[in-house]
Amino acid sequence: MLIIPFHLHWSEVTPSKLVEVNNKHEVVQGEGKPETTALCIHQGVYRKRPDVKSVMHTHMPYASTLTCLQQPELLMLHQNSCRFYERIAYDTEYSGLGESFEEGNRLGAALGQKNVLFMGNHGVLTAAESVDVAFDYMYYLERAAMIQVLAWSTQQNLKEMDKNVIELTTKQIHEFLPHTNLHLADVDCTKGCPNEMLTPTTLSTLFLSVTAEN
Ligand SMILES: [Zn+2]
Repeated sequence: MLIIPFHLHWSEVTPSKLVEVNNKHEVVQGEGKPETTALCIHQGVYRKRPDVKSVMHTHMPYASTLTCLQQPELLMLHQNSCRFYERIAYDTEYSGLGESFEEGNRLGAALGQKNVLFMGNHGVLTAAESVDVAFDYMYYLERAAMIQVLAWSTQQNLKEMDKNVIELTTKQIHEFLPHTNLHLADVDCTKGCPNEMLTPTTLSTLFLSVTAEN
């Protein structure tokens, strides 16, 4: 697994700064060590999901707000929400920092076969077949959560979409997913950053990992 080392500012992260960790949780390549909870959570997902090649975990404000509810749910209120139809798992069993591999395994099991995990009282996690798709999920998840929180703030009645419209929109959006590499590439080059530099945009904190063979 390749993962961002601890104590490295996100703006400093480049592909060459990622460290490689083996199945015994030892750093076998690169400088520094991953943060313990990042190591446990990410490895927990990879153990359960051999199809997943990239995991991202953040504490973004709007998505994290939904994890603080007794019954967290991303409502199908907006076009951006439809990207996540039937792709989200919810965990409400927060019990402290995820600094054990048992907790990582538990979270991996809670994700199941979905692409997004709402981690109760904590944050969110996306898991996908590539970095660009995991990033795309994370970006639009925060946008969808933001719209939901803003819609609630109006204190007006919400208009959830009909099931047939949701299913059609979901299908239409996922037909565009092959273009997610363009989304990530565009972020990479924002405002003259070096080509290999990743920029955080709306992400407040983020741990990214990819499988070593990816
Ligand atoms: Zn976290």
